[in-house]
Amino acid sequence: TLRIKARHAELAESLLPSGPLKHFVDGEWITGRGDDTFQSIDPTTGESLVGVYEGTKEEVNRAVDAAWEAYEQRWSETTPAERQQLLLTMADRLEARAEDFALIEVLDNGKPITEAREDIELAVDHFRYFAGAARNIEGKTVPHKELHIQTRREPYGVVGQVVPWNFPLLLATWKLAPALAAGNTVVLKPAEQTPISLLTYMREIADVLPDGVVNVVTGFGPETGAPLVSHERVPKVAFTGSTEVGQGVMKAAANTISDITLELGGKSPLIVAPDADPAEAADIAVDAMFFNGGECCSAGTRLFIHESIADEFVDAFLDAVGKLQMGDPLEESTDIGPQVSRAEVEKTLHYIGLARDSDASILRGGGTVEEGILAEGCFVEPTVIADVGADSTVATQEIFGPVEIMLEWDGYDEMVARANNVDYGLAAGVVTDDLSFAHRIAEDIMAGNIWVNTFNRLPAGQPFGGYKQSGIGREGAMETLREYTQTKSITMNLGDGQ
Ligand code: NAD
Repeated sequence: TLRIKARHAELAESLLPSGPLKHFVDGEWITGRGDDTFQSIDPTTGESLVGVYEGTKEEVNRAVDAAWEAYEQRWSETTPAERQQLLLTMADRLEARAEDFALIEVLDNGKPITEAREDIELAVDHFRYFAGAARNIEGKTVPHKELHIQTRREPYGVVGQVVPWNFPLLLATWKLAPALAAGNTVVLKPAEQTPISLLTYMREIADVLPDGVVNVVTGFGPETGAPLVSHERVPKVAFTGSTEVGQGVMKAAANTISDITLELGGKSPLIVAPDADPAEAADIAVDAMFFNGGECCSAGTRLFIHESIADEFVDAFLDAVGKLQMGDPLEESTDIGPQVSRAEVEKTLHYIGLARDSDASILRGGGTVEEGILAEGCFVEPTVIADVGADSTVATQEIFGPVEIMLEWDGYDEMVARANNVDYGLAAGVVTDDLSFAHRIAEDIMAGNIWVNTFNRLPAGQPFGGYKQSGIGREGAMETLREYTQTKSITMNLGDGQ
């Protein structure tokens, strides 16, 4: 423990600014009126990394005012080419310190370094993708005899954005890049568990960003997030987080008739077809479930295995789960780091407890690490549960930890009905070499993303978002520009043509 603690403390000392970290509003670092701070915790060691100022309605109001001023005085005058250039510079600045940002994510979130590097690489690519997209915002003309009808896509002005803790900088980028490309200014609240990477990034780009174009206010949901999403001068809100909080965001939007993008929870099925190679399918299933320690909205948390290969598959799958290395996320060999917080550990254990009480079989894991060097961190063993009812709580609700539910199937129609029988519809996967089977699944599963022989792949350009209670709108792609713009029709009387 001491060795891990010393290594994390040393890294924190060399990478993190000294705290408490301030809000970034109108190009300045402010504390606001309140003196309250909270600690951002390293979930691997349980130690505090740095203090962070706790935002209130007052700082949110200041940030919204600054964002409007920046929009009206400067940003709305920028050309697509200027916005493209800024986004390219933002990408370059991130890329230049990619390894540092990956390490910061490891410290603050606990994700393995190999996965943190992928986050940053993807974030850089999203900035570049939307830099290009900025040049692609176009209207159209509508044929009519006497009228010349033309449309423009115009920004909303100020956008409010709230992100969760599982991919801190990447999900902030998913929101910032298209909003800026489309010509909006932004007020963003990072998650209270993981504010450090975004605040550090703001330092990195403060000199290239016009004042007030991006404002970051840190703090908790009710105190900082709620005043932002319900603000009457924020006509567009983009939120990623739990379905429960998303419902509140939607209600708040009703008061001001604001436009919303919601990326919410999931309980995604992965279907293993009878023709699948068990070892290959097991590898895909392990990645689908345990990537990012299961703290992934799209995680393949319900595994539907065809009866005919169940024995072989389960052996291969449990074998692969058994090989996952849990440990210090700074180690290159680590597959699973800690959960993000003690609260998330408790939530995951609660669900495992429900399964135990219902006589389910816990085939792997099922607990925390009680002894040894990981005991002080937020570690939950990779857990595999079988023999649960398809309608049970653990098989239908999002756990958001490393807990796989194994289910078997036989008849196609019944399997599809069970796979669809949850409130969520974020993603699904299928492992098969049978093209027509893959197409049938892709058509029949009600989800925004279907992966065939892969999982959790989210390159820039692939629209991402949910059906049903998993959300509204799509991120990461050209159509995201529609989420950040509104249509204006301009109709001219052409007269009688004489
Ligand atoms: P959460 O909903 O508790 O918090 C998300 C963010 O909302 C945080 O920044 C939090 O401070 C803020 N928040 C909390 N209460 C608020 C309120 N009343 N008003 C405004 N903001 C408020 O979720 P979480 O536990 O941090 O994140 C995990 C959830 O996010 C999971 O359900 C996961 O599936 C979902 N998620 C979805 C996607 C997606 O793209 N669909 C991606 C990542 C995570």
